[in-house]
Amino acid sequence: MIDSNKFLQYGYKRDNEIKGIVIHNTGTDLSARQVFNYLNKSKLSNGCHYLIDYKEIIEVMPLNYSVYHTGKGNDWACKNTIAIEIVSNIDNKKYLIGQQKSIELIKELMKEYNLTTNDLYFHNDFANVYCPSDILRIYGNKQNFIRKEFQL
Ligand SMILES: [Zn+2]
Repeated sequence: MIDSNKFLQYGYKRDNEIKGIVIHNTGTDLSARQVFNYLNKSKLSNGCHYLIDYKEIIEVMPLNYSVYHTGKGNDWACKNTIAIEIVSNIDNKKYLIGQQKSIELIKELMKEYNLTTNDLYFHNDFANVYCPSDILRIYGNKQNFIRKEFQL
């Protein structure tokens, strides 16, 4: 978990139910640990709840905090969702290990918060960005990704 004195830099205490999960790719060649160390020093406010790579799942922010993660400040996604950052990797095999771990984590969170695939979002559902870049590269769009990975 990030330093607790950073909680109010990256978000604010949640006073509402979790209504969705937003998926990002980091789009850098930094590891989860390196991004985490960066967030612990950064003065910016864009963060996430989880960072996942092929080595580890890092819980960055507590789930009872809303976190700024769409680049649009306190929007609907910030207020209501869990932000998942799947760490990019130029080694596709390593990337896919992290992606698989992320999918498993997302499925657990969906169960815990009674969410369906209708509650899964990509960053680009909220902003004009190419994110999650790796998933878009591999699957083309969100519908293909959900059909392939979340078909029950
Ligand atoms: Zn993103």
